Amino acid sequence: MGALVDLTNLTTKLIESVKDRKFAADLREIQRMIASLQSEHASIHESRIALMTENAELKRKLAALELRVADAEKRASQQQADLEQFVEHRGALFKRKPDGGFHEAVYCPKCHTSTSSPDGHAAYHCYCGWRADFNGFEFRKILKDLLSTHDPKA
Ligand SMILES: [Zn+2]
Repeated sequence: MGALVDLTNLTTKLIESVKDRKFAADLREIQRMIASLQSEHASIHESRIALMTENAELKRKLAALELRVADAEKRASQQQADLEQFVEHRGALFKRKPDGGFHEAVYCPKCHTSTSSPDGHAAYHCYCGWRADFNGFEFRKILKDLLSTHDPKA
């Protein structure tokens, strides 16, 4: 803005000192053009401030989204790892042990939580309502079938 103000002051000084009317009119035309440039300059300045504000806001939103994506990816890979621990057999889930065998528990295929077979006679069932088609007395045989169909190294 400094250079434009200096130009306005200089042309004002020239208009005051010049005798030629035509030349003075030309100078006033230059002064009018400078004023128009000043106004354009001010509007560019305002746009720039608005863009800088918008840019800062977008950067903030992007950083927040990047955090959410990283978090979701972490959770998805954790869920995938959890699911890979389970093997489905007879409609129920069985959880792998690091040695390749299975935990001595029956898991609900919906909730992935362990279920129970009260007194061994009732079918394994979950609080969500899911019921297995076998009970605690059949567990040993079912686990043996499961081990024979699933290579411990697989
Ligand atoms: Zn359940």
